[in-house]
Amino acid sequence: MAALVELEEARSVWLAYEAGFAERRKKEKHDGLRRPGSVDDWHRLTWGGFGVAWCDDPQVHPRGPMADVLRRLITALERDPGCACPVCGGRALVWKYDLAHEPSSGPVCTDCGIVVPRPVLTPEALAAARRGRRLLMSA
Ligand SMILES: [Zn+2]
Repeated sequence: MAALVELEEARSVWLAYEAGFAERRKKEKHDGLRRPGSVDDWHRLTWGGFGVAWCDDPQVHPRGPMADVLRRLITALERDPGCACPVCGGRALVWKYDLAHEPSSGPVCTDCGIVVPRPVLTPEALAAARRGRRLLMSA
């Protein structure tokens, strides 16, 4: 039961984001603005859902309610890219292949298990994850 409530809350957070996103796109289109494609791509992959925030490894989960995790991801998407996991701040990101859902490969946080949306990370952070190295604090 609790899980269902949590899912509902997470869904409402996501739907609010979707609504805001659609609104913004409409306005930008009207103003003739173009955004970099990566957020759009990510958005398209996750449309309607929970492919979004999910953890490929069921053994590893972020702490805290799903709605909070989702809020943190959304916040990260709306600011400049960084080099740490948007959910737990961890920097131990590794590139994984054959993920259970779309995208089929990407950076995964080894601390909380979240599949980090690529637009949230800087190109350097993505490259480091691909090389399979931990990012240094100075990076
Ligand atoms: Zn994390």
